[in-house]
Amino acid sequence: MNDIEKKYNLINNKEENVEILKQEIERLRAENKELKDEVENLTHDELTGLKGRKFFTEKSQQDVFSIISPETETENRKEGFKSVSFLFCDIDYFKKVNDIYGHDFGDEVLKEVAWIIKENIRKSDTACRWGGEEIVISLLGADEKKAVEKAERLRKTVEEKIEEKYRNNPKYSGLKVSLSIGISSFESGVGFEELIKRGDKAMYLAKGEGRNCVKTYSQVLEKEKAERNKL
Ligand code: GH3
Ligand code: MG
Ligand code: MG
Repeated sequence: MNDIEKKYNLINNKEENVEILKQEIERLRAENKELKDEVENLTHDELTGLKGRKFFTEKSQQDVFSIISPETETENRKEGFKSVSFLFCDIDYFKKVNDIYGHDFGDEVLKEVAWIIKENIRKSDTACRWGGEEIVISLLGADEKKAVEKAERLRKTVEEKIEEKYRNNPKYSGLKVSLSIGISSFESGVGFEELIKRGDKAMYLAKGEGRNCVKTYSQVLEKEKAERNKL
């Protein structure tokens, strides 16, 4: 079939062609949705809808690296991010929530906490379900001081919103949900894995200091120093 014959056929079978094109568009739409779902499953945690640990780790490694190496021309660098802080959040006495109100309700609370966090962070911040009832948040551009302010606001918001949601339901009277948050902030030459370890240590300090509070890695170091001086 030559080109003129092809054009003749296309014009004559206009309606049929439109139908074929419509079907093709539908097929591509379905395929696109399947691919999007696949990416969503690979990058997100199913229960909370937060980013998954693997995706978060890869992204954060790049973020930290881009700040460590000013010569690397990455998007963050171009936007001028000079720091990054990580908030290591752990729900207090969560085992008790499960034991008293049931595991399904525990799941509901976890989803609720995740949703509150997502609603209260910036587009450039990323929240991830690190594991179990632990959520790690990266605050791009935030130094330790800014991170403390943000963490305090998040801690209060989670406590208040959960209280507000369940206070009129007698089934959940006595429910108290709070977060202990540890903070680690960018330091030249310190990689993501070390920052996570520092955040975890700071979170354990917050647990040790009574829970439902925010502690920084600087405070961990101060405490260690004070203890050494006592010896
Ligand atoms: P702490 O204040 O020291 O953090 O006390 P905790 O009870 O939160 O800590 P612990 O590590 O003893 O227990 C964590 C609990 O979190 C136990 C586990 O059943 C619960 N948990 C972890 N992941 C999930 C989840 O996906 N759903 C529910 N419902 N519970 C979870
Ligand atoms: Mg935990
Ligand atoms: Mg806990």
